[in-house]
Amino acid sequence: MSETMRAAVVPEAGEGFEVVERAVPEPAPGEVRVAVEACGICHSDVFVKDGGYPGVRYPRIPGHEVTGYVDAVGDDVDSWSEGDYVGAGWHGGHCFTCEPCRRGNFVQCANGDITGLTFDGGYAEFTTVPAEALAAVPEDLRAVDAAPLLCAGVTTYNALRNADLQPGDLVAVQGVGGLGHLGIQYARAAGYETVAISRSADKEEFATELGADHFVNAAETDPAEQLQALGGADGVLATAPSSDAIGSVVEGIGIDGSVIVVGVPGEDVPVNAQHLVGTNGAVEGWSSGDARDSQDTLEFSSLRDISPEIETYPLAEVETAYERMITNEARFRVVLEP
Ligand SMILES: [Zn+2]
Ligand SMILES: [Zn+2]
Repeated sequence: MSETMRAAVVPEAGEGFEVVERAVPEPAPGEVRVAVEACGICHSDVFVKDGGYPGVRYPRIPGHEVTGYVDAVGDDVDSWSEGDYVGAGWHGGHCFTCEPCRRGNFVQCANGDITGLTFDGGYAEFTTVPAEALAAVPEDLRAVDAAPLLCAGVTTYNALRNADLQPGDLVAVQGVGGLGHLGIQYARAAGYETVAISRSADKEEFATELGADHFVNAAETDPAEQLQALGGADGVLATAPSSDAIGSVVEGIGIDGSVIVVGVPGEDVPVNAQHLVGTNGAVEGWSSGDARDSQDTLEFSSLRDISPEIETYPLAEVETAYERMITNEARFRVVLEP
């Protein structure tokens, strides 16, 4: 094989992408090399592009929605073999020995790695990933469809399945975008009475196609009132990173309901504490998942035919692709094919 590869690097925080020739990385002990088929561009890649996340060194290859085939395995790896179809997400490995790891909570590892942030990610023809950070991808999922499921997918799927929700419960997904359009599909497939909340009237038809039972236009009506008219939400998955939008749905939860925040706004969220006390309600957060959670997400997506809406670009068009994502023009996830 060729000993160099093409990669899109961020030379320094705040600078544009450069597509360069790089040496193909060798997997260290405990690592696996992946020949990248597809890599999603996630909003969190802004942490690499513009800086602002601790521990990112430059130049850095971003990308934490990686799918491809195992191409080489390092020493001491017995869980993967050449040719395996795999994916890597935000959670980029863990130490196995810190206190959260000893309790099996690898996502909260005190020494955890992040794919494409603390080590080079998937905006390249090859990447190396710690063996424990890989998920097996079902053969029937295309690499370009599976890639966004490794961040946007696992975040919404894992948040919903870890919430105290039962089939038939009223569950709203606030925001019909990159995260929300997957959240609606998972909510529907999980058996919830599913409400899509958006400020764009033109999302109604799409949300209904994805499986929403109700559509609330938050630009024209009060979403909290609408949720109360439906009986009060047992859960609201808040995917739009807007503190006003999140605050506006808190009074829509019913008894023991909760707002689960997965889209992080830059500002604090105003919360009506009176309503929380009156309902025993909560506003809580959820952070993605580990590799096994990703694999569960992929397997469930395969089982229930759930896939993201994507736009694909070759690596050479990384700048255009990133612009589509960061300006919120993309419908809905952008995927590179290195
Ligand atoms: Zn992400
Ligand atoms: Zn740890």
